[in-house]
Amino acid sequence: MTQIVDFLLVNGLVLTMDEGFHLYHPGAVAVSGDSIQAVGPEEVLNRDYSGREVIDCGGKVLMPGLINAHTHVPMTLLRGLADDLRLDVWLLGYMMPVEREFVSPDFVRLGTKIACLELIRSGVTCFVDMYYFEEHVARAAAEIGMRAICSQTVLKFPAPDAQFFEESLAAAREFIQRWKDHPLIVPSVAPHAPYTCTEEILQATKALAIEFDVPLHTHIAETAQEVENSRKEHGMRVVPYIQEQRLLDAKVLAAHCVHIDESEMHLLQNSAVGVAHNPSSNLKLASGFAPVNKMLSVGLNVGIGTDGPASNNDLDMFEEIRLAAFLAKSVSNDPTALPARTALTMGTRLGAKAIHMSDLIGSIEPGKRADLILVDVSSLHNSPSFHRDPNSVYAQLVYAAKSTDVSDVMVNGQWLMRERQVYNLDEHELLLQAEQYAHRIDTFLIQREKSILSKLVAIGPATEEESFEVQVKVRIPDPKPVLESIELPDIEVLYRRHYHEYDTYFKFADPKQGTLRYREDEFVEENVQERKVRYRLTLIGPAREYQFPSDVLLSRSRYLAPASHSLRFYREYFNPTGELFIEKDRRRWRVLFRGTEFYINLDRVDQPDLGYFLEIKSRTWSRRDAEHKAHMATNLIEFMGAQAVERVTQDYLELASSAE
Ligand SMILES: [Zn+2]
Repeated sequence: MTQIVDFLLVNGLVLTMDEGFHLYHPGAVAVSGDSIQAVGPEEVLNRDYSGREVIDCGGKVLMPGLINAHTHVPMTLLRGLADDLRLDVWLLGYMMPVEREFVSPDFVRLGTKIACLELIRSGVTCFVDMYYFEEHVARAAAEIGMRAICSQTVLKFPAPDAQFFEESLAAAREFIQRWKDHPLIVPSVAPHAPYTCTEEILQATKALAIEFDVPLHTHIAETAQEVENSRKEHGMRVVPYIQEQRLLDAKVLAAHCVHIDESEMHLLQNSAVGVAHNPSSNLKLASGFAPVNKMLSVGLNVGIGTDGPASNNDLDMFEEIRLAAFLAKSVSNDPTALPARTALTMGTRLGAKAIHMSDLIGSIEPGKRADLILVDVSSLHNSPSFHRDPNSVYAQLVYAAKSTDVSDVMVNGQWLMRERQVYNLDEHELLLQAEQYAHRIDTFLIQREKSILSKLVAIGPATEEESFEVQVKVRIPDPKPVLESIELPDIEVLYRRHYHEYDTYFKFADPKQGTLRYREDEFVEENVQERKVRYRLTLIGPAREYQFPSDVLLSRSRYLAPASHSLRFYREYFNPTGELFIEKDRRRWRVLFRGTEFYINLDRVDQPDLGYFLEIKSRTWSRRDAEHKAHMATNLIEFMGAQAVERVTQDYLELASSAE
């Protein structure tokens, strides 16, 4: 008696990718409902099974579908938006501001559909996603029939779907509850990365993942900088830190793990953490080389992912698997490292282990879900075929085959693509909609890039503060009289400071944009060894507002904020047309002079060497108040005995420019 099954796939070169790497040629697979019923030599299955539909595989490779272990699928809509940038400039300067403006449920659904079309065509049957509005990634994927782990992002910054992390955490909980037992979707939670999450977020997401027994998806040790910062902030590397936070108690999938040492690998392995290796992304962002050989030898389950299509820029797992093999060889200076069969295992069975789904997918074995693909290896670029070495078919698939050789894809017993025709998706319509988004995003960025102020607001704490500054400045030959006058009774000193100031000015082609100043204030204190520094960013108005009598200037500062990024970051983000550096020693007093408050600055400009200056300054928010202060400032400077010396109507930037 033969058993009736839904599909009997015959005449294939069956790569099971199981533990024993069983291979049948000609082989067959029986599929019933959502599952694999049997796999083996064709003659055996023909004897034991009869299919409601018999599929002739035409000698193609029949293998488990590929698993993309880490991606951000809606970012297909941001593909090509900003490239050749450092990770922080790319992420904080471009991706996050655009995402805050455009990412919506509609955006996420459209981006997911486009990604699914691309994934299906390249033989991927399961992907692990991390994004915002993850519910809508799940809906789109389920509608199309794709299998996915969908991880709702939680992070400490305002996100497109949450102003505060509590909202995204609540959304993650509801999402997990709703999708917990879905046949295609595994809901999950994603604390974005240790450096974008607070300890509270790490604790809460871990508790949620454990409560519902779902995977916890995160980015770990992607850059050397991250490790360095972790050392500074927590006194330890990234993996010990997340272990201390007990994050590893959950079923963790850790993307990247580029900068981890051997003891960290053991920590991850002891906690059954899965790793997603992302060769293209690491190469493109120059993040470094993940120690894949070492991770595998330690026994870690390492899968392969494309990362988001904005940092790759595609979702091609054939390319990723090939790169994983090439990279591992090059880095270890050993062509025998990471052979083709191992690389393909990382894209299938080992990937399934890494994402905690090896009971269901990753190999062709009875009882597992029917996630299958057919790959045509008879085309010119795959030819000819050798059979002496049983491993040659793996080499053929990894080193020669292309994603376009995938002809048929089945997920959960349903065909999603036959003979390269994808069901359920209208490519033309999707591309039209994607172009509309691209046009709107282009317009938004073109507008933003026109103004230094709006570029500043996009990355900073979104505050803009406009104030006026009354300023009178004189060049003095000798600081002694000034120091003596400050001790006179008309001047009440509120506080005094002493610091070294290192100013970098960014100049722009359009002078109307003003000048951006990055200031490093190093406090000089007697008997204090520790270097105390503060960093500030000021956008200085394009021109002085007004000149009062006696060379008192009114200038405008349009934006003032602590500089939370490095000078290098700002340089790459703002891309100024010119730069100027000024170093000075500044003694500063905040004083009351006959009832009016002023700052008195006594400066010695060392670079360029401009000598001593006395500066009287006061900040104000109204023009009328400015009139009064201008008058008082003149009185003060004369009181300090500096009326006879040269008045300087230029600021340091202008002085330094002319000294250059
Ligand atoms: Zn990622």
